[in-house]
Amino acid sequence: MKQANELDKFDHFTGFRDRFEIPDRIIYLDGNSLGLLPRTVSARIRNVTEQEWGEGLIRSWNQAGWMNLPMKVGDKLAPLVGVGPGQIAVGDSTSVNLFKALSAALSLRPDRRVIMIEDDNFPTDTYIAEGLANLADYELRRASPEVLAKMDIGQDVAVLLLSHVHYRSAEIRDMHAINAAAHGAGALVLWDLSHSTGALPVDLAGTGCDLAVGCTYKYLNGGPGAPAFIWVNPDLVDRASQPLSGWMGHASPFAFSDSYAPSAGIRRFMSGTPQVLNLSALDEALNLWADVDMTLLRRKSMKMTEFFIEGVERNCAGFGLQLASPRDPAIRGSHVVFDHPKGYEIVQALIARGIIGDFRAPQTMRFGFAPLYLSFVEVAASIETLKDILEHRIYEQPEFAIRNTVT
Ligand SMILES: *Cc1c(COP(=O)(O)O)cnc(C)c1O
Repeated sequence: MKQANELDKFDHFTGFRDRFEIPDRIIYLDGNSLGLLPRTVSARIRNVTEQEWGEGLIRSWNQAGWMNLPMKVGDKLAPLVGVGPGQIAVGDSTSVNLFKALSAALSLRPDRRVIMIEDDNFPTDTYIAEGLANLADYELRRASPEVLAKMDIGQDVAVLLLSHVHYRSAEIRDMHAINAAAHGAGALVLWDLSHSTGALPVDLAGTGCDLAVGCTYKYLNGGPGAPAFIWVNPDLVDRASQPLSGWMGHASPFAFSDSYAPSAGIRRFMSGTPQVLNLSALDEALNLWADVDMTLLRRKSMKMTEFFIEGVERNCAGFGLQLASPRDPAIRGSHVVFDHPKGYEIVQALIARGIIGDFRAPQTMRFGFAPLYLSFVEVAASIETLKDILEHRIYEQPEFAIRNTVT
């Protein structure tokens, strides 16, 4: 605890804690799944509903800037992923954007029929790739970790879909090396940034990326179901097409012309009407990031995951926990997973004590360390509680075995 106090003294981000609603007696180790509520968001939503919607009504599409929200929010995100303004569109879910981006990649490689995916990716990534392969008769090729390590990409692969930070292990992939290998084989790479945006610096342009999508309700604190983002390299975007060719992606939506003509740039990836309430919450939440130095944020994140791993391994030795994240902080994102046969029950027992982490079947306990608002003292307290739960087998109480829908 003394060491934790020392580390908190040198924390560059202590000022950020007050910018979030943090419930009493909760230690929140799940900011990688649903970020905390930034304090200014509630007032913004109230204003959007009561003033912009309630009073302004349809005039607000122009007067309150509703129409441009997908691009405005994209511009706030752009520096977090290393791209310029006007290159990101925000809307729909990550799942839907995966569908659009995969389709776009396939449209750029019309002579190739293979979509390559990693084994054990986040389920929706795999399911969307399966759906698209079935719909349009593409071959889905699953790459084992060994194949990925060797970067053994066939000359028939159109696109490789990968998570930048793996949702379970937190392993960080080397974007630059993987892009180069894929390009060497003539393939494109689609990166899912859901677990990296807002957790570590991302440099899409500098590492030669082709396409990326990502989620905004995790480290970006956009709120439950917040809209996702999509980016396509400006050198490719005007040649890329996607099949959800709704009117908002049209070159001139309000010309009401009788057939589709895509907008220039990333706007062609928009489909329907912007989700104004969600986008407004996200727009507000993203204001925090103007004051964040991502290098310092990454430094804190690495120190914090290190502190947690060391503390758990020292205090909870002999209770059967197995680290399932990389030990090397350089290739570890901002969450840490431990496997345990009673992982579900242990997580439930922790939640009952106000320490909120999550569980990923079959036996992975996942703890997220959102560097903007967590303190080292909280992490130390979490380790103490975990030790107590294991030592006294508190997780064996029957109420902790009841399975909820969301784990
Ligand atoms: C969280 C997450 C998603 C979320 O997809 P939704 O369509 O928003 O449900 C997708 N991919 C990855 C890798 C994720 O971590």
